[in-house]
Amino acid sequence: MTSTSRRVLLAKPRGYCAGVDRAVEAVEVALEKYGAPIYVRKQIVHNVHVVKTLEERGAIFVDETEEVPEGSIVVFSAHGVAPVVHEEAAGLSLRTIDATCPLVTKVHKEAVRFAADDYDILLIGHEGHEEVIGTTGEAPDHIHLVDGPGDVAKVQVRDPDKVAWLSQTTLSVDETLATVAALRERFPNLMDPPSDDICYATQNRQTAVKEIAAQAQLVIVVGSTNSSNSVRLVEVAKEYGADASYLVDYAEQIDPAWLEGVTTVGLTSGASVPEVLIRGVIDWLAERGFDRVEEVESVKESMRFALPHELRKDLRAV
Ligand code: SF4
Repeated sequence: MTSTSRRVLLAKPRGYCAGVDRAVEAVEVALEKYGAPIYVRKQIVHNVHVVKTLEERGAIFVDETEEVPEGSIVVFSAHGVAPVVHEEAAGLSLRTIDATCPLVTKVHKEAVRFAADDYDILLIGHEGHEEVIGTTGEAPDHIHLVDGPGDVAKVQVRDPDKVAWLSQTTLSVDETLATVAALRERFPNLMDPPSDDICYATQNRQTAVKEIAAQAQLVIVVGSTNSSNSVRLVEVAKEYGADASYLVDYAEQIDPAWLEGVTTVGLTSGASVPEVLIRGVIDWLAERGFDRVEEVESVKESMRFALPHELRKDLRAV
């Protein structure tokens, strides 16, 4: 096989979404403006490389608010927090910078509104995911978790005619549609959210991976194992035609055996992955004869979010 017959199809859009970009920048700007250490509750975004890089610059990641010393500055991650976390922070006199993605905040507000109207809310999402914990915390007495179509039969509600659904922002679009269809079969009067909860970035990255998966034998997804949207990209790639698909944090994790018999490698990355990691994989593949890179653009993206208001306020005051 000559190297000219080997190619890489690079999905676009891929990598950083507007919410991740904003959250990472929030920590960077806080470090510059207030100096180290800056505490961050949970991983600011689910990516090993990003967390390590920020740690090197003086960020300290903690799991719980109580680990932050009284009076310090703490940043809340892009995945959002329950109201009780804000209360805990106030109790410790912490200065908070809330980097919750505005699209996660939108889902929190939908939960609060449905709960105020006394709906049972069926939250489609993955048990234990930080975003699900944060959203559930907005209305713990009204929200029931539905972790895929298999959970639909188990759901218990007070009034089957007063039920609404919401979802985590980073799910598989296709699987969520299947879950909603199954829920609607059980609850014909099921209320929809006012707009899509699965965010634009998750949807666009899945659309892009579907296009390259149909033409590639192998799809490599750069992302961390705790990144929901990255894991979904692997599943979607397999479902849409790739013989194999793997998740890697770095190029060094790729097993050369995966390339046996492969002429086209599809490549993409989750919404929390910086472009430098994709470059590393492109270089690794080029060294093994996959030196023709074609970018396949499925959707144009231009979304940007302003920095958290607590930071903007302080930056204006300079
Ligand atoms: Fe926001 Fe979507 Fe990015 Fe999550 S994946 S941070 S919801 S834009």
